[in-house]
Amino acid sequence: MQDIAAPSDEIAQLPPADADLVRARSALGEFELTVCSDGTYLLDGGAMFGVVPKPLWQKRIAADAENRILLGLNTVVVRTGRHTVLIETGIGNKQSPKMQQIHSNQALLPSSLAAAGIRPEEVDIVINTHLHFDHCGWNTTLHPDGTVTPTFPNARYFAHAGEVAHGHLQLDRDRVSYLSPNYDPLVESGQMTLLDDATVLAGGNICPGISVELFPGHTAHMMAVHIAPPSPAESRPSASDAPHACYIGDLIPTAHHLDPTWVMGYDLDPLRCIEERKRFYGRAIPKRWLVLFTHDHQTPMAHISLNDKGKPVVVGDAARL
Ligand SMILES: [Zn+2]
Repeated sequence: MQDIAAPSDEIAQLPPADADLVRARSALGEFELTVCSDGTYLLDGGAMFGVVPKPLWQKRIAADAENRILLGLNTVVVRTGRHTVLIETGIGNKQSPKMQQIHSNQALLPSSLAAAGIRPEEVDIVINTHLHFDHCGWNTTLHPDGTVTPTFPNARYFAHAGEVAHGHLQLDRDRVSYLSPNYDPLVESGQMTLLDDATVLAGGNICPGISVELFPGHTAHMMAVHIAPPSPAESRPSASDAPHACYIGDLIPTAHHLDPTWVMGYDLDPLRCIEERKRFYGRAIPKRWLVLFTHDHQTPMAHISLNDKGKPVVVGDAARL
């Protein structure tokens, strides 16, 4: 069971200065994980919990007077020794004043990375699980003169080609979620590599120890990111003990969404989400994966187990600062 959030009138007023800039750190084999943050934002609680009745979800997380709940924007930085890898880049600074007012987001990722001692120039790989506005916003930076430049000038960016294609369709259902300045300039310059299904199904290797895997449902081409440091042959642990973390993206946005049926109203294919969550738990629980949550400000990483009713639950917060 997670902590119940603060009383509703305190949630919306959470001052940005109070948000911890670095949310968690953890060693994973030879790799170092740091959870940075673009701050928090507010989304409708009903949309976040789909058909789950409010009397049930509000036991887990409180809503404010406008039925909004406080969510995080977690960016995971993986230092592998050879590469500095960024997973997701938050909302960024391209929101219109109206949207920024609605979401109450704070655009803190540059400050968060600085607080963690990570310079934008040293990031050499950026991975987006999908291209919704709250996952790739700091891929690029909007300047006062209206120009947009890559935030991480030396990085190769990776996203799924199907996400770019879907964003370009500008469908009535989800066009507000796809802001092309977050990715089009990178695709046009060749700085973003677009992955196809065949590449991902063939292993989805990005660099040694980092790979992507399709977990469709939230969108048709959403990818999780696996972090599995290679271990020296002489000390190779058994498969169940090998250090492994997984950034599961919006398949399971927060630790409050662990029940396989507690999918979001935003999910394009909720039935597929339920099946993909079960597939994920079938590996993540027995192999004791460290699960990294994209939108959980309080619990950015945790191990998962089954309770006595067979439901997945957090077994304990890992390495919270
Ligand atoms: Zn999303």
